[in-house]
Amino acid sequence: MASGGDDDAGVKRVADRYLKREVLGEGTYGVVFKAVDTKTGNTVAIKKIRLGKYKEGVNFTALREIKLLKELKDPNIIELIDAFPYKGNLHLVFEFMETDLEAVIRDRNIVLSPADTKSYIQMMLKGLAFCHKKWVLHRDMKPNNLLIGADGQLKLADFGLARIFGSPERNFTHQVFARWYRAPELLFGTKQYGSAVDIWAAGCIFAELLLRRPFLQGSSDIDQLGKIFAAFGTPKSSQWPDMVYLPDYVEYQFVPAPPLRSLFPMASDDALDLLSRMFTYDPKARITAQQALEHRYFLSVPAPTKPSQLPRP
Ligand code: ATP
Repeated sequence: MASGGDDDAGVKRVADRYLKREVLGEGTYGVVFKAVDTKTGNTVAIKKIRLGKYKEGVNFTALREIKLLKELKDPNIIELIDAFPYKGNLHLVFEFMETDLEAVIRDRNIVLSPADTKSYIQMMLKGLAFCHKKWVLHRDMKPNNLLIGADGQLKLADFGLARIFGSPERNFTHQVFARWYRAPELLFGTKQYGSAVDIWAAGCIFAELLLRRPFLQGSSDIDQLGKIFAAFGTPKSSQWPDMVYLPDYVEYQFVPAPPLRSLFPMASDDALDLLSRMFTYDPKARITAQQALEHRYFLSVPAPTKPSQLPRP
């Protein structure tokens, strides 16, 4: 962390250590630009987070949490290299990544074999398992938050930011995409959610890799629940006993579940079994990231493709 919140220290820090390059894009939290870290010679991505939008600003709790994120080091998590405030913006410095899973899924020139899909899912679950073990949730899992490095490694980006900065006022585009990955307990307004929300989202990403399009594309929160029920059947209270106590729970007309096989005709039996466990309604019964990594899907043939051999845009 740069010394204090001193503006000059921030400027010096950017000027001294990081040489600013082009803007990479803008996300929910602010602008991201490319830079070179002169200390290491590595290319980095600097996320400038506008603090004005957040009621609490960067208080000490947030800074302490960010310090914890800097210690989350794993091959499948984007490394937070540095963090410092400057001119009302918090600068978060991350390792630079070439592309993301959304670009892979959307690229029609890319053929994804079952072994390639397995490799991406395994890397995603490894990153999740590591963070969940440390009690950190992601809360905003979606394909464009799964970044891919030059070596083919998939890494989870934006870990913990949703918790530190709260759910930001997303503009329409961001909100819509985030909804498709939202777990049913969140759609029913639960206040006490856990790592199972990341597993539901990971299941949606798994499904999206198989289908090559987003799986459950709801146009509103109610419609999102409708899409979920159409895919998996309306949950029965025997399946999810706590459901009826959730703040926004309302009874839905019963819809039976179609066979999962009919939704994913090309998937292996093992892939379908793992998917069904990631899409378990009751968050308490939903598979954990660690259990998912031990599922027979990862032990059966084909073996996951080596990251360096994965097809990329
Ligand atoms: P959202 O905020 O809703 O997740 P987003 O993923 O587009 O949307 P950001 O994560 O802020 O928002 O990213 C903005 C842009 O910067 C995107 O184009 C993203 O690919 C790019 N980007 C973010 N982090 C990195 C990184 N570590 N390396 C390279 N590019 C990055």
